[in-house]
Amino acid sequence: MKHKGLLIVISGFSGAGKGTLVKKLTGEYEDYALSISMTTRDPRPGEEHGREYFFAEKEEFEEKIAKDGFIEYAGYCGNYYGTPKDYVLSMLEQGKNVILEIEIQGAMKVKEKFPEAVLLFVMTPSVGELKSRLIGRGTESEEVILKRLSRAAEEAVGIEDYDYVIVNDDLDTCVKELHELMKKSCEGIQESHHPSHYKELIENCRAELNALAKGEK
Ligand code: 5GP
Repeated sequence: MKHKGLLIVISGFSGAGKGTLVKKLTGEYEDYALSISMTTRDPRPGEEHGREYFFAEKEEFEEKIAKDGFIEYAGYCGNYYGTPKDYVLSMLEQGKNVILEIEIQGAMKVKEKFPEAVLLFVMTPSVGELKSRLIGRGTESEEVILKRLSRAAEEAVGIEDYDYVIVNDDLDTCVKELHELMKKSCEGIQESHHPSHYKELIENCRAELNALAKGEK
């Protein structure tokens, strides 16, 4: 039987740097193909249709849902996001490792449909770091930042459902670490990055995010 590629799901809080991480990984190694999602959110300055996302109106998105054109889709902070099916399936068939950079609801749907998928959660070393990266990005209003932090608090509940946690402290180190982990994952799940090894960090993040979401910080 032809060896098919690995389906890799990468999630993480908004501002954890997953976008940059994934771009660098796919830029440095040829083994990966990045799925481009469709979204109904507005493009940020510098984003291009067909590069970061396929930007669509709500109607177009809903038509694609009706045609069963997504592997998964979800609502996130008032917008739809979904993974178009065709590209992912054809890349996997060609033996590429396909990366889906998606939020947690979508990740769980992928796990149901593709139990062999590898799920990875990217964290920052602290919540303070997360907040300053979100603000530093300068592309979101304060209201959106708060919405995203509150969504992060909800998502923090599901980290244990992922196969791996990876901490994005230094970008270059993280990219290398991620690549090594994916290489080894082809032979089976690697215990070293299991969420149970990051208990303290996860619990601290949860507590701080909950406080932020409640406006206590
Ligand atoms: P952003 O608006 O910051 O680009 O993305 C918001 C969230 O939506 C991020 O957590 C991102 O990973 C997630 N996301 C992007 N594309 C998809 C997708 O196709 N499906 C799902 N479920 N989530 C997505």
